Amino acid sequence: MSPKELDFASQAVFYTPEEHSQSISYPIYMSANFQYDGDIYDQIVAGARKEVNIYSRCGNPTEYKFEEHIAKLTGGTACLATASGMAAISHALFGILKAGDHIVADLTTYSSTHEFFDHRAQDFGLKVSLVDCTDVRAVENALTEETKVLYVEAIANPTMKVPPLKALVELAHARGIVVICDNTFASPAVCRPHDFGVDVVVESATKFIGGHNDAVGGVITLKSDILPPDWLEDVRWNTLNKLGAPLSPFNAWLLLRGAQTLALRLEKQCANALALAKHLEAHPRVRRVFYPGLPSHPNYASAKEQLRGGGAMLSFQVDDEASGVRLLKRLQLCSFAASLGGLRTTTQVPATMAFLDIPSQEREAMGVVDGLVRFSVGIEHIDDIIADVDSAIDQMHMEI
Ligand SMILES: *Cc1c(COP(=O)(O)O)cnc(C)c1O
Repeated sequence: MSPKELDFASQAVFYTPEEHSQSISYPIYMSANFQYDGDIYDQIVAGARKEVNIYSRCGNPTEYKFEEHIAKLTGGTACLATASGMAAISHALFGILKAGDHIVADLTTYSSTHEFFDHRAQDFGLKVSLVDCTDVRAVENALTEETKVLYVEAIANPTMKVPPLKALVELAHARGIVVICDNTFASPAVCRPHDFGVDVVVESATKFIGGHNDAVGGVITLKSDILPPDWLEDVRWNTLNKLGAPLSPFNAWLLLRGAQTLALRLEKQCANALALAKHLEAHPRVRRVFYPGLPSHPNYASAKEQLRGGGAMLSFQVDDEASGVRLLKRLQLCSFAASLGGLRTTTQVPATMAFLDIPSQEREAMGVVDGLVRFSVGIEHIDDIIADVDSAIDQMHMEI
């Protein structure tokens, strides 16, 4: 059976061993430098790039193996790994845009992405319009002659909104606009934006792909009729190689190892998240729950079409920010932490953590209201997660 015919779970586990050693775990090539034996020098002069090993900022065999695996899992035609999720996002944008170009981006994106769009992009002569991309008409009204990129997230923090990918792709492609989607909150096990026509998918591999809270990394994948087939190799040589944010071989190895259990982890994490979301929705001390797998979610229809399961991310609103913080400080099993996507349940209060640097009015327009608590649900037993959360909710009004 060719690996192409395998189910996603089998594809996640399987990769071909290294040719020389038949090592089932692909080796870590912990080498910055490579020796130009035989005619390698002549091949490089003649234009060889990935076919030979040159220098690890330009590429490394362990990184290439990780890229090959992720291209397969995302349904992309190619993948480029980067030092972080933010490096994937910035390199994808710098690989397409030039001064004077216009971007339409969702109003609600990851905090560092939002800050780039809202402040830093202008320093490079880029123009940005931030709109609610669940409203296709609003996106259409924001497009101009200069628009080159439409940028959304598959599931957007912290209200877990899910934009209608097919409708947005249709609108953008009719005008030759490239659609970029950050798939971090979903992971390839829950959403494959390329299947809905998205040209470029960016993802923080630090989160669900790696899944163990032990390595920072990012990936860009391509499947496009607008961008040329060699676009990602051009980004590797002309953007990443010049701006200098390659993935380290050791992190590539950790992330490749983590990706092998992606389907298994997410199956459990989505089931746990759904059970926790249902429990919280019925809880008298919880004002509102945001989870794309619940029929009460405003984008439930898009979620049903685009997501396999409801994902592992949810948020809920309690009375005020102080109660939310006290709730998280009372948790014993779940960890109060910045990041997400790992085996363990981690939680944070977005308004005063990830979005702290964003002015409160801007934050509220993004749906980042005070008293919102975000959970990245892990693989612990659901009864233990619920008991921990219930006990913390019971104590959230008590001074510590
Ligand atoms: C974490 C995150 C990023 C940035 O990834 P890093 O690996 O931390 O650089 C980008 N987008 C989303 C949605 C994220 O959660």
